Amino acid sequence: MLGLMQNQPLLISSLIDFAERHHGDGEIVSRRIEGDIHRYTWRDVGARARQVANALDGLNLLFSDRVATLAWNGYRHLELYFGVSGSGRVLHTINPRLHPDQIAWIANHAEDQVLCFDATFLPLVQAIHARCPTIRQYVMLCDAGKLPRDSGVPNLIGYEDWIGGKPTAYTWPSFDENSASSMCYTSGTTGNPKAALYSHRSTLLHAYAAALPDVMGISARDSVLPVVPMFHVNAWGIPYSAALTGCKLVFPGPALDGKSVYELIEAEKVTYAAGVPTVWQMLLGHLKPNNLRFSTLRRTVIGGSACPPAMIHAFREEYGVDVLHAWGMTEMSPLGTLCTLKNKHLTMPPEEQMKIRLKQGRAIFGVDMKIVGEDGSELPWDGKTFGDLYVKGPWIVREYFKGEGGDPLVDGWFPTGDVGTIDPEGYLQITDRSKDVIKSGGEWISSIDIENIAMSHPAVQMAACVGMPHPKWDERPIVAVVKKPGADITREDLLEFYEGKIAKWQVPDDVVFVESIPLGATGKMLKTRLRETLKDYKLPTA
Ligand code: ADP
Repeated sequence: MLGLMQNQPLLISSLIDFAERHHGDGEIVSRRIEGDIHRYTWRDVGARARQVANALDGLNLLFSDRVATLAWNGYRHLELYFGVSGSGRVLHTINPRLHPDQIAWIANHAEDQVLCFDATFLPLVQAIHARCPTIRQYVMLCDAGKLPRDSGVPNLIGYEDWIGGKPTAYTWPSFDENSASSMCYTSGTTGNPKAALYSHRSTLLHAYAAALPDVMGISARDSVLPVVPMFHVNAWGIPYSAALTGCKLVFPGPALDGKSVYELIEAEKVTYAAGVPTVWQMLLGHLKPNNLRFSTLRRTVIGGSACPPAMIHAFREEYGVDVLHAWGMTEMSPLGTLCTLKNKHLTMPPEEQMKIRLKQGRAIFGVDMKIVGEDGSELPWDGKTFGDLYVKGPWIVREYFKGEGGDPLVDGWFPTGDVGTIDPEGYLQITDRSKDVIKSGGEWISSIDIENIAMSHPAVQMAACVGMPHPKWDERPIVAVVKKPGADITREDLLEFYEGKIAKWQVPDDVVFVESIPLGATGKMLKTRLRETLKDYKLPTA
C-alpha cells in the first residue's frame, strides 16, 4: 500500500518560490566588485531568476545543458543559481583560481554552452575563449552600458542587457527530482579534475539538513555571511538553505581581506559566518592589532581543512564567537559532519568540552560513515584506531560526471581519501589525507596534530607537516613553518614546544622555515608542491 501524501518533486525552483512567497522582503546584501553595496530582496531574486530562465530559453538551451559561472559571491550569481537550475539547466560553477588551462579543460569537459563571468575575470575569459568551442554565449555580470568595447570575446553581452526586458513571469518546469541541477569539479591535485553532478533532490535534502540546529543551525533570525565561495561546492549549500529559512544573506564579493570582511560583518549585523581557516586567519589578524570586537557575530562554521585549535580558542575566548568545526568534500555536497556538543557534554569542564569541539564532529542524518582497515574490514569506534574513512548517503556521489575514473564506490560506500578516528560518541576526527599520512616505524603520525601544535605557538603563522624518507623508520615528520611578521622563533624553540603535547616519537625531527606554503585553488595547503620544493632536503637524523 502506498502512502496517500501529495507527490511533489524536490526541485530548486520550489525554494525560490517559497522564499518569494514566505519571506519575500528578506534582504540580500552584496558588496560589488565596484566596491559599493547592493541591497534587494528575495522577491527581486525571484523576478530576476525568472528573467534568467527566459534569457536561457531565448538561446534555445535544452534541458540539462550546462551554464557556467566564473563569479564571486554576489546577487547576480544567486540569480543564476535559481534561474539556471530552476529552468532545468545545470549550473556549472567554475573555480577561477584554477589554472587557465584547467579552466578551459573543464569547460570543454562539461560542454558548457554559456559562460557568465564577473568583470574581474575578463582577462581569464580572453585567454581561454578560443579553446572553448562549446560556449556560444558569454555574459559579463556588469551594469548596463559597462561592457568593454573591443574585448575580443565573441558573442559577449552584458548581463543586464541579456535579462533586461525579458518577462519576469515564467512557469518553472516540473521534472524528475533526480535530474542534474549543478556541478562542481574537484581541484584535481592528482590527475584531471572530476565533476560531482548534484541533483535537485540531493540539493534540497542537503539544504534541509544544513539548516538543522546541530548542523549549520541557520534560521530566519540570522544574518549570514558566506565567505566560502559560491564557485566551490555551492558555498556549502548556504544559498539554498537561506532561501529555505529566510535568513538575511550577506555576500562579500571579491573583498576577502580581514578589514573588508570585518566591516561588512559589523555594518550588516552578521550573526553567522562560514569559511575556510585561511580566511578567518586574515580576519583574526586584522582584529587583534586594531583592538576590535564583534558586536553581532555569534557563530562561525569553519571547514574545508582542519581548523587549528588556536583559532577555535581565539574566536571563543577572545571574541565570544562559537566555532562549529565542519568536515565535508565536493563529492558530498559538501557537508558530512559538524561538531556540536550533546546534552550530556554540557556539564563537562570547559577543557573537556574543548577536546570535543576540536574534532570534525558527528555525522548529519543522511550521511553514514565508517572507518576501515587495510583489509577493508570496519574498525572500532574507540577514538584511537585510525582508518580510511568511507561515507554513503543521498547527497554523496555515486559516480563522477561522464563516468570519469570508473566506479568510485566500494560495496556502496564512497572512499573519502581521508584518514581518521571515530569515538564511541560518534565524533569523527580527521588525522590526515591518506596520501599525506606519515608512517614511522609502522605507526601512523597525524600531520594535522603536528600542524595544530605548531600553529598554537604565538610566533607561527602557518605550518605544514610532511614525511621525509628515513633509513630506519621509513619516514619521519618535519614541519615547514611560516613565521608571523616580526616574530622570532628558532628551530629549537619550536621542537621544545612539542614536549609534553604529543608522544616523543611523534615530535617532528626538524623545523624548516619557509617564506610561504603553497596553497591550492580552494585555499588548502598543497603538500605535493611543498614536497617538490623540499626534494633536496636531508633529514638531520637520517
Ligand atoms: P577538493 O577540491 O580539494 O577535493 P574539497 O573541498 O572537496 O576540495 O576537499 C575535501 C577535503 O578537504 C576532505 O576530503 C578533507 O581532506 C579536507 N577537509 C575538509 N574539511 C576538513 C576539516 N574540517 N578538517 C580536516 N580536513 C578537512
